[in-house]
Amino acid sequence: MQTHETNHYDILIIGGGAIGNSLALALGSLPLRVALVEATPKPATHQRSNSPPQVEFWEKSKDLRAIALAHSAQQMFSAMNVWDEIAPHAEPVSMVHVSNRGRFGITRLTAKEQAVPALGYVVPAEQLNATLSLRAETLSNLTIFRPATLQTLTQQADGNHEATLQTADGQQTLTSTLIVAADGGRSKVRELLSIDAKAHHYDESALVATVDCALPHQGVAYERFTDTGPVALLPLRGGQRAGLVWTVPSGQLEHYQQLSDADFLAALQQSFGYRLGRFQSVTPRMTYPLIQVKAKQQIRPGVVLLGNAMHTLHPIAGQGLNLGLRDVAVLAEVLSDACRQSQSIDDFAVLERFYAWRKQEQAAIRWFTHGLAYLFTSTLPPVVIGRNLGMLAFDHLAPIKQPLTRYTLGLAGRVPRLARGLAPNKYS
Ligand SMILES: Cc1cc2nc3c(=O)[nH]c(=O)nc-3n(C[C@H](O)[C@H](O)[C@H](O)COP(=O)(O)OP(=O)(O)OC[C@H]3O[C@@H](n4cnc5c(N)ncnc54)[C@H](O)[C@@H]3O)c2cc1C
Repeated sequence: MQTHETNHYDILIIGGGAIGNSLALALGSLPLRVALVEATPKPATHQRSNSPPQVEFWEKSKDLRAIALAHSAQQMFSAMNVWDEIAPHAEPVSMVHVSNRGRFGITRLTAKEQAVPALGYVVPAEQLNATLSLRAETLSNLTIFRPATLQTLTQQADGNHEATLQTADGQQTLTSTLIVAADGGRSKVRELLSIDAKAHHYDESALVATVDCALPHQGVAYERFTDTGPVALLPLRGGQRAGLVWTVPSGQLEHYQQLSDADFLAALQQSFGYRLGRFQSVTPRMTYPLIQVKAKQQIRPGVVLLGNAMHTLHPIAGQGLNLGLRDVAVLAEVLSDACRQSQSIDDFAVLERFYAWRKQEQAAIRWFTHGLAYLFTSTLPPVVIGRNLGMLAFDHLAPIKQPLTRYTLGLAGRVPRLARGLAPNKYS
């Protein structure tokens, strides 16, 4: 990298998290010059290996989240030829088991009912991100600036944007036809372009850890609603290891953080019960404050917002990344169509097609997630009674269960080519 050099790209992706890297991979086969800017250094090699993560992986990990990838996300990664590298770390989910502690009402969703090999796959977040970023490095149409941070962004008279980056070697100036904001919930792009965002603070935090259990999980993902907040235990590779996401009121976070491992496991056992036998051990716990963010604008000439930069969701239904990935699939498809039809990607109609395709599903998932977060954390008696009845009805009413499950699999509505396992420029 040289100091004060200006380069032009067709697409400049700001942020190399799961969304930024997935978009780079999705654009890998298109005749476009792409650049990606990521603030953090390149992942270390321990973050990618071909065998399932062992104890040392969890001890070194800086992000202990277990991410539930929907069936549509797995299809996308297959189409982008990166699934083979993710698969050794991914546990297939054969069933989702939803229950209410101390009350009636159990719901089960199974892969068999949906006629899919798995409802989804659970992957350690750190390994997923490392695999995607190391794979992105092999793309011939991609230039990566890393570690580098976006400092300024201005639109020029010709419609292109000029971005200044701070890199280890000094400042670098780039211009681009299209800017993609994939720089997370506190998006710098949003700030620099004065795009407002609406935030809802839940006054809850997610306690995240990895737990070893006495009984095998058999590919079942558990979501249990308790008086101390929803407890999710997601099956991880290794048979008896599960990724915990425990949503607790922020005021009680310190109490849970200060418990010894033994006391923490006892509290978890009391909330969750013994479906996975006795909990044996737990990794250090990490916490994430929970917030819903929605940017007020997703597209404007030469700019599109994706992933957490556009919408940050409550993790209760494991939808945030999955929704963002379907946005990636649709954006790649409309850009691919534009290239095929010799339409310039600076034509705003291209971004309008993307937005028209996505806005309905985005709103549906946002409301679904927010509704679930309210329903399952409320202690108001009418809400509690309603949710018990709702869970019973849900389990017995195929006309409600079926379409909702298709939504969470990412198979509802018009499904983009990548989410059907096809390359964005494969026309069939
Ligand atoms: C506890 C928890 C559990 C979750 N579980 C699930 C789940 O099971 N399934 C699911 O689908 N979703 C889940 N999610 C949501 C999921 O984690 C997010 O949707 C996803 O991480 C968003 O990815 P992103 O790439 O948009 O943002 P990020 O992961 O935040 O990446 C943004 C990137 O941009 C970089 N960046 C920021 N600013 C700059 C700058 N100025 N210059 C250069 N680079 C910059 C950052 O370094 C970062 O790498 C969960 C979330 C939480 C909190």
